[in-house]
Amino acid sequence: MTIQTKTAHASNYKAASRSAADIGFIVVHYTGNRGDTAKNNADYFARTAGLEASAHYFVDEHEAWQSVPDKDVAWHVGARSYVHKTCRNANSIGVEICMLDKAGRVRQGSIDNAAKLVRELMAKYGVDSGHVLRHYDVTGKDCPAPMVADPKLWAAFKQAVTKPEKIEEDDDMYTVYKTIQDVPDWARDCVNDLIAKGYLKGDGDGQLDLEHYMLRGLVINWRAGLYK
Ligand SMILES: [Zn+2]
Repeated sequence: MTIQTKTAHASNYKAASRSAADIGFIVVHYTGNRGDTAKNNADYFARTAGLEASAHYFVDEHEAWQSVPDKDVAWHVGARSYVHKTCRNANSIGVEICMLDKAGRVRQGSIDNAAKLVRELMAKYGVDSGHVLRHYDVTGKDCPAPMVADPKLWAAFKQAVTKPEKIEEDDDMYTVYKTIQDVPDWARDCVNDLIAKGYLKGDGDGQLDLEHYMLRGLVINWRAGLYK
């Protein structure tokens, strides 16, 4: 996904030189604001000094904005006491979701985009889904509140970042092979054999007009010896 950048005011995070190996966790938050945008937040953290808080990313249903570089330390899970034994600002990336609409309802589009971003970060830094946490899991803070109140929402998020990437729809399924030259290699012997046997005649004008899914069925049956 496209990520735009507007770096936070230097007073809002700690410059560091983290390597990929230093990043062991991704922590999910919500901004708690209604109807805010990723860009609004990035702008705010860029122009306002001394906030003593920050996050690496802000995500809404349209885009993601990077506010603190990954190599630097954002102040997103600091606390006096922790629930989690090892996840801290120094070894994590913080992702803030602009999660509520103006009426205070969950914006699923923002959550979906956050899941995409988190997947990319997991791949980039070798973080498994067991190391993707809510702020709540790290310090006990009620954040992201909708995902604390409704554990199913969090479970769905974890599932979205865990399951294999959805396979793009197979355009091949709708391909029509008009002639033997169009038929893919894996099916060519089968089709030639069926034509030779007279089982496959096409439309009589040398046009086979075989649909891909039908071709797959023919090949499976042919390999099984059904046309011998
Ligand atoms: Zn938080």
